[in-house]
Amino acid sequence: MTDAQAKQIVEMRLKGVGYKSIGTVVGLSRDIVRNYCKSHNLTGYASVLTKNVRLRIEQGEACLYCGGSIMQPKTGRPKKFCSEKCRREWWKQHPEAVKKSREASYELVCGNCGRRFISYGNKNRKFCSHDCYIKYRFWRDGEDEI
Ligand SMILES: [Zn+2]
Ligand SMILES: [Zn+2]
Repeated sequence: MTDAQAKQIVEMRLKGVGYKSIGTVVGLSRDIVRNYCKSHNLTGYASVLTKNVRLRIEQGEACLYCGGSIMQPKTGRPKKFCSEKCRREWWKQHPEAVKKSREASYELVCGNCGRRFISYGNKNRKFCSHDCYIKYRFWRDGEDEI
């Protein structure tokens, strides 16, 4: 079984597709698909399954990427992925998350509207939006002159 096939099995299984249909699509026998699902805790009814996997991911028991079981370390940060490969694949598919995690986020208060906003990677931002910047910079100056 290739990585691509394994990935496809998990994806389809989580959508509630049956073993036989999955097998037809990925080009493997129903038994191989079923065995793979069994060893990755992907058996059972679709609705229950999706819920279970989601729950297990939230509780840190299942891999965020493939749904496989995770052995949590006794110390240190809890793991979200079963392997380094899954971690890398997941990040590859979520470029937005990469950007946000790399840049620290700061909660700041807008100098124009007073609303709190989150700034990624820049703690010196003064306004929540360009709009507020424009208002503050130009409208205010205008008022001062009157
Ligand atoms: Zn995994
Ligand atoms: Zn604002």
